[in-house]
Amino acid sequence: MASNACRYASTKHPKNFKPPTQDDLDELRERTIEFTRREIPYDVAQATDHQNEFPMEMWQKMGEAGLLGVTADEDYGGLSMGYQAHCVIMEELSRASGSIGLSYAAHSQLCVNQLMLNGNEEQKSQYLPGLVSGEKVGALAMSEHNAGSDVVSMKMTAKEVDGGYVLNGTKMWITNGPDADLIIIYAKTEPDAASKGITAFLVEAKNAKGFSCARKLDKLGMRGSNTGEIVLDNVFVPTSHVLGAKNKGVRVLMEGLDLERLVLSAGPLGLMKASLDCTLPYVHERHQFGVPLATQQFIQGKLADMYTKYRASSALTYSIARAIDESFEDPDIRTQDCAGAILYAAERATECGMDAIQCLGGMGYMNEMPAGRIMRDAKLYEIGAGTSEVRKMVIGRAFNKEFGVR
Ligand SMILES: Cc1cc2nc3c(=O)[nH]c(=O)nc-3n(C[C@H](O)[C@H](O)[C@H](O)COP(=O)(O)OP(=O)(O)OC[C@H]3O[C@@H](n4cnc5c(N)ncnc54)[C@H](O)[C@@H]3O)c2cc1C
Repeated sequence: MASNACRYASTKHPKNFKPPTQDDLDELRERTIEFTRREIPYDVAQATDHQNEFPMEMWQKMGEAGLLGVTADEDYGGLSMGYQAHCVIMEELSRASGSIGLSYAAHSQLCVNQLMLNGNEEQKSQYLPGLVSGEKVGALAMSEHNAGSDVVSMKMTAKEVDGGYVLNGTKMWITNGPDADLIIIYAKTEPDAASKGITAFLVEAKNAKGFSCARKLDKLGMRGSNTGEIVLDNVFVPTSHVLGAKNKGVRVLMEGLDLERLVLSAGPLGLMKASLDCTLPYVHERHQFGVPLATQQFIQGKLADMYTKYRASSALTYSIARAIDESFEDPDIRTQDCAGAILYAAERATECGMDAIQCLGGMGYMNEMPAGRIMRDAKLYEIGAGTSEVRKMVIGRAFNKEFGVR
């Protein structure tokens, strides 16, 4: 493919990619923290949750701050920095607001990075600059009501017609679905060919006749990360908007899933940090029985657990991201590592959210404090991008494959 001619042998990293140094990553983290302090302070995070509305001006602000195309080529406005950097930004955004972090990842990883890795030159030049600047919002739609964990059983069809395809069906739980300009949509081009009959399409949601968002979903957590059920009723998509090759959508989907799980594992990291951010000051300031709560052994035990869970999850995620960045010429992407990172971090983040509520006592149960929001947001990561059970299955199957057992 012409667009990849001057890229490294790796198809997972942008042109001119050099693994970032620790100083580069520390500086990026500092810049992201400055951004979240300025643009996502406590009241913005709380309002996003309470009103269940994404602050739409955030897209442009994130674009101006250079956060939206971290794994994209500089030619399209990207930072060309790779997956460690993507995890750093995802972690710090999620620390400020889990739901803004989730919408960010749906845009920058599920849409921008998938397009970067699988698009041809024409598709990338047409769509990446607008997505990277924040002028346009991106999403990815594979799940359907009856095809979640078993996603290849999807029913959406794409019938070949003169000049393109006509798509029909519905997609469920699509992050950014109600707001997206561009959605990567998977559909069956050969319904009888199971996983070998799926194709990925670039759909200009707002311009497509027959496209609609049937409803915005009301969720337990991640409120304000707008999630939708989308309907495609005879939507025409030109052949030039096939992403990758016809009937090769499962390759695009599965390859994307490893990196998606890795980058998304930084969401729970941010939520664990947020749990510590709200718990540590509180238990040191509040006195009961004449002493700070933080000097009570039961509370110290929870603090120790929360901190250790964060540090262990962080070490796992960043060591995997570093290995992928540093092997960029022939990237070493291990399915069991990427699935393991999010499996571990997601479950630990829910536990940290629960511990934060408990340490804050009655105030932990109040919506004016962030602990409840953090716990509700964290739970999503045990479900979205494949559930904990499916991640375990994926890890087990990766070992089966290594041992030649099906
Ligand atoms: C907030 C949110 C945002 C999302 N965003 C997107 C998005 O942007 N794009 C997109 O395409 N999808 C998205 N999803 C969908 C998500 O990927 C699915 O919800 C997820 O894959 C689980 O599918 P399901 O909900 O159908 O659960 P089911 O598959 O019905 O599973 C129900 C339960 O059964 C278990 N189970 C299923 N199969 C097995 C098995 N073989 N062995 C053991 N246990 C099993 C599951 O682990 C789970 O506990 C989102 C979901 C949510 C909640």
